[in-house]
Amino acid sequence: MRTITNVREMQKIALQLKREGKTIGFVPTMGYLHDGHLSLLKAARKENDVTVLSIFVNPLQFGPKEDLATYPKDFERDSQLAENEGNDFIFYPSADEMYPDSLSVTAKIHDRTDVLCGKCRPGHFDGVATVLIKLFNIVQPDKVYFGMKDAQQVAVVDGLVKDFNIPVEIVPVTTVREQDGLAKSSRNINLLPAERLQAPSLHQSLKIAESMVSGGETNPQIVIAKMMDHIKKNTSGVIDYIEILSYPELKQPNLLEGNIIIALAVQFSKARLIDNMIIKLK
Ligand code: AMP
Repeated sequence: MRTITNVREMQKIALQLKREGKTIGFVPTMGYLHDGHLSLLKAARKENDVTVLSIFVNPLQFGPKEDLATYPKDFERDSQLAENEGNDFIFYPSADEMYPDSLSVTAKIHDRTDVLCGKCRPGHFDGVATVLIKLFNIVQPDKVYFGMKDAQQVAVVDGLVKDFNIPVEIVPVTTVREQDGLAKSSRNINLLPAERLQAPSLHQSLKIAESMVSGGETNPQIVIAKMMDHIKKNTSGVIDYIEILSYPELKQPNLLEGNIIIALAVQFSKARLIDNMIIKLK
């Protein structure tokens, strides 16, 4: 496995691989790898000749009051984990390498961002889209792997790729969880011990919602109220949002039908956790 920190070098390698007819599977991450990231890498390994994992904590997608400075890092450990998965290249640029000058062009997402994390984190998905356009041009991937834990990101990137005719296939990967149901996240390390014990309540509330809607409940407000109640009773976290929307359109349904996403974000003292479940209804 090789670690590349230079944009032009990574791009040169990728273009050469393409000339040789090799397919490139790409897994963009912010590092501090866990089994969720590794499941993306496993899928990429299986389906492509070459895999590239990027580790870049993208300042553009963090708001001024967010956790950019405290985002966990451990490159040595990440590198070992990626190597164990048979990964070929880690692209690990600095912020100065990615953004040497202020950008004269940035992406602006117009759809699917007035809800969920887009509403609470203004500009977040613009920052995600901007860095992905750069990464796609640098890494030249055939397939890009994204986790469904960030389902809104998948929906937004789907729009980006279609609208800009980017020749890349998006592969969504199921959320990997701890044994107690908590979705694996680099941010879980920032939970206090008591909060870590409470955190499985987020997934439990999604399971409660799932059994309500599959039992015939069609009123989203009744389901949301029950979820709020469960989270408030069982955690010290502050609910950022709980929403039920159509998926992937992310529109507010009056009644629950078709493909829906039930999604939540809860702010603990030093970690904001998100989770979701997608349900196919008739
Ligand atoms: P991040 O490093 O948090 O930006 O995540 C990088 C990629 O890993 C994104 O596509 C995430 O959706 C995905 N990911 C994060 N957590 C999980 C998880 N628990 N299961 C599957 N994919 C995940």
